[in-house]
Formats: sequence, structure tokens, C-alpha cells
Amino acid sequence: MINNSKNILNYMFGKGAIENLGSILNNKKSENNYVVYYIDEYFEKSELISKLPIKDNDEIFFVQTKDEPKTQFINKYRDILVEKNKNNPKAIVAIGGGITLDTGKAVSNLLTNEGNAEDYQGWNLVKNPGIYKIGIPTISGTGAEGSRTCVMTNAKSGLKLGMNSDFTIYDQLILDPDLTKSVPREQYFYTGMDTYLHCIESLNGEFRNAIGDAYSRQAIELCRDVFMSDDMMSDENREKLMIASYFGGCAIANSFVGVIHPFSAGLSVVLDTHHCIGNCITMNAMEEFYPKEYKEFKEMAQKQGIEIPKGIAANLDDETYLKLYNSTVIHEKPLSNALGANFKNMLTLEKATEIFKRM
Ligand code: NAD
Ligand code: ZN
Repeated sequence: MINNSKNILNYMFGKGAIENLGSILNNKKSENNYVVYYIDEYFEKSELISKLPIKDNDEIFFVQTKDEPKTQFINKYRDILVEKNKNNPKAIVAIGGGITLDTGKAVSNLLTNEGNAEDYQGWNLVKNPGIYKIGIPTISGTGAEGSRTCVMTNAKSGLKLGMNSDFTIYDQLILDPDLTKSVPREQYFYTGMDTYLHCIESLNGEFRNAIGDAYSRQAIELCRDVFMSDDMMSDENREKLMIASYFGGCAIANSFVGVIHPFSAGLSVVLDTHHCIGNCITMNAMEEFYPKEYKEFKEMAQKQGIEIPKGIAANLDDETYLKLYNSTVIHEKPLSNALGANFKNMLTLEKATEIFKRM
């Protein structure tokens, strides 16, 4: 099948690029003049806030990052704006990591589409274009800035799925590598690895195409440069990882993941493990599926002095293993991409439990 793919229309890249936010907003014509900001809570007391072109009638929300987005939070954000009669802003600006970028995308869609966030978890369900939105990543790796989805969990049903839609893609990106300077080293590694792992899963899969492969190969090369170097957080390496992440996001639109992401999703739904650290924990048990990459991953972690937590699923009861299994094998597309249509013959409850115990 050939996708009719959409890319980000406008992106600005370089140190200090965020200083252009004011002029981008000024150039945007709209019936209303206020802007809604979603900003990672880390920046609440930082200098960055004073540099933003925030005006009196703008709305600012500091997004918590203890939990990954839930559909009910997204509905709540929409409700607050509706109550304040601020539901048709000139722009939504999201500044932060994957959690914040996904929040901005989801609220933007929900403000112009009826119903609740839960109604749009799936593929191509969003009917109307969302509010014009600008994404400004402050940590690199998930590709959320470039992708056509915004991951969220419906806590009631346990479904973790994004609004996969062309309307979910950011209208404008500001990629400013100065913003990632303050990321803690462990987090920088875990999130950066999301791109590497996504891309090695794609390249080892069955459902491939030349565009997805090209983005993935280039993103992996950049990750190798960054994580095999002496200082993964040098100015040059933060620039490279920002581009790797963006390419990784473009690759997501043209490819599928494999075994790692489904297991990590299991950890996330059942044990509330965050996405990027969950991938790294999973990778520790993936030698049989990705032997070369497993070795390389270990080398990169060692080179950067990063310890991947171990044993989080070593001693659980049978009921929990069953829940983990069910929330892993539900990801049929990536698992058949990696292991073939009959993946359940190989990936039995017993086998999956053994993998979880090895993590
Ligand atoms: P995050 O949003 O989870 O943030 C991780 C931590 O880094 C937080 O504590 C945050 O406060 C902190 N942080 C962010 N920027 C910082 C900075 N400059 N300085 C200091 N601290 C900073 O980060 P993430 O790993 O980028 O995102 C994970 C989320 O992305 C998950 O919810 C996952 O589901 C989602 N995701 C989305 C996509 C997509 O395509 N939409 C793809 C993969 C993952
Ligand atoms: Zn991922």
C-alpha cells in the first residue's frame, strides 16, 4: 500500500530559534488573538517563561509529567477552555517533552471535534482540522514533534492509543537545541533511545518501504554518533539528537515498530512504567530478537554510564503476568511485522512471562 503521507509544513531549526515564536504568532491571522500554552512543569519557575511572548489574555497550563496523558485529562483541559470561553484560540503552543507535545496535539483536535478524547483513539477518526498548533520540543527522542499521533490512555478501558490522523501533525515546529541542555542525563538517554529502538524495530520488520527505511537509517546513524561519543550532551550532539528524533517521528508515519514497543506498552498499561524507560528495560530482554542491536544498545549505555533498571517484572503473580501478556499481544500489527502473522504460536503466555522475568 502507498500512503498519502503528510509532513510538517514549517519548521525552524537552530540555537535560539525559540526567540522567533513571537513573530510567528504575530504573522498568524485569526479572529481571536489569545494563545493557549501547554508547558512542561519543569519550566514553571525557569527563565524560559520570561522569554516567551505571553500576553495578558493568553492561557497558560503547566503540564504534569508524573503520569503520561490520560484521555480524561485531555477532556478536562478542553472543558476548562470551554468554561472560560477560550476554546477558539489563535494558536496552541506546546513546549516540553512527549507528554506535553501530545497534550497540545490532543487538545487542539478536541476543540474542533465533538465528543471526548476517547472517541478519537484509533486511525483517521478525527473529522475536522484542529486549532493551529506549534510544537517546541525540550527533550529529544520520541518523535512526537513530527509524528501523526498523540499517545494517551483511557484509564477506564486500559486502551493506550493515540489520535492517528493527519490533523494531529503540528503546523509549525520550533527545534531549538538550546532547550535540551537541562535534561537530566538518564532521561536524555532513555528518551533518545526511543528513536534508536523504534528505527531498529522498523528495519528488522516485514512491512517496509524505502521512505520509512531511509528516515530510520539516518536516525540510527545520528543516534550512534551521539551515544558512542564521549559527551552525548555536547552542543553538537544535542543538535544531532534533535534531528534524529524528528526523523524518527517522520519514520513512524511510514513504518511499524516490532517486539520492543508492545512489551513496553504492556509495562506501561499494567505497571505505569513510562514509555522511554520502559523501552530500555524491555531491550534488556530482547537479545534473542535483536542480537546485534542488543549488543550495540548495551555498549551505548555503558559508554554513557547509564544504568538500566532491572527486575521490575521479575516476581509478579500469575494474574499480573496475564495482564501484561494481554496488553502486549493486543499490538498485533507490530508483532506480526516482527514475528509474522502467527506470532501467537511463538509468543505464548509462558514465553512472554519468561521475557518479562528477564527484564
Ligand atoms: P516526557 O514528556 O515524559 O518528560 C520526561 C521528563 O523530562 C519529565 O520529567 C520532564 O519534566 C523532563 N523534561 C523535559 N524537558 C526537559 C528539559 N529541557 N530540562 C529538564 N527536564 C526536562 O518526555 P518524553 O520521554 O519525550 O515523552 C514521553 C511521552 O511521549 C510518553 O507519554 C509517550 O507515550 C509519548 N510518545 C509519543 C509519541 C508520538 O508519536 N506522539 C511517540 C513516542 C512516545
Ligand atoms: Zn516509542
